Amino acid sequence: MQERIIGIMGAMPEEIDGVVKLLQDAASYSLAGRNYHTGSINGIKTVVVISGWGKVAAAATISTLIHRFSITGLIFTGVAGALDPQLKIGDIVVGSRLMQHDMDARPFIPKYEIPLLRRTFFESGTEQLPVAAEAVERLLENNSLHALIGKEELHAFNINSPSFYIGDIASGDQFFSDAVKKQQLLKDLPGILCVEMEGAAVAQVCYENAIPFTVIRTISDAADEQSPIDFPAFIAKIAGKYSAAIITNIFQQLNK
Ligand code: SAH
Repeated sequence: MQERIIGIMGAMPEEIDGVVKLLQDAASYSLAGRNYHTGSINGIKTVVVISGWGKVAAAATISTLIHRFSITGLIFTGVAGALDPQLKIGDIVVGSRLMQHDMDARPFIPKYEIPLLRRTFFESGTEQLPVAAEAVERLLENNSLHALIGKEELHAFNINSPSFYIGDIASGDQFFSDAVKKQQLLKDLPGILCVEMEGAAVAQVCYENAIPFTVIRTISDAADEQSPIDFPAFIAKIAGKYSAAIITNIFQQLNK
């Protein structure tokens, strides 16, 4: 059987530095502007990398993880802007499907459909999804979040008892910080929970290479005029703690 090697990707150092610290026997390799950190977590071979923002950066990075580092599965962890009005800062979304909201090759193919692949949505790994869901639930139950993050910080973001959702995520090369644009996207794509800039690019390349993936996103902002304030504050104070805790929980289950 092929050896299991898990790739973990995030867009920013703040989301990933805590995950790099979980690696045992760590080494790092620099390639095309990225640092690939290899090692193991709970005895499972792992490669951790920061992709940078946007679909091209994410696609380039996942290709390298697959073809240079031979990963057999990918976990993306990061933050996103809320689209669904139910979602609040601090809630967590595990993506069931990923799609690209800025793909539009009409009149040749329908809006949002990916050229050549004849599909709009990419499904996350059916075996990985419940593992990610359990890891997130464990973080949110029994107040374990409150043990991890200071009271004042949680209070500053109005985070009390965050909710967990499984649903669709849209990606595109655009930071959403405008309530009107957000409403328009929601109207065009009802049912999408949140918006970010990398997940669907990773999903497409994983699909093309038959690599199962999961995308886990904590809500950092409401994708409106408040986002330029909320997003950097959340990234600086909270995002990394969520990522490291979720990855720790996932690897505890994988080792069973
Ligand atoms: N301009 C910002 C960077 C924005 S990139 C700066 O210079 O600091 C935002 C990152 O967080 C992306 O990696 C994206 O995946 C995610 N994200 C969080 N909130 C988002 C939103 N409202 N719209 C789009 N992406 C968002």
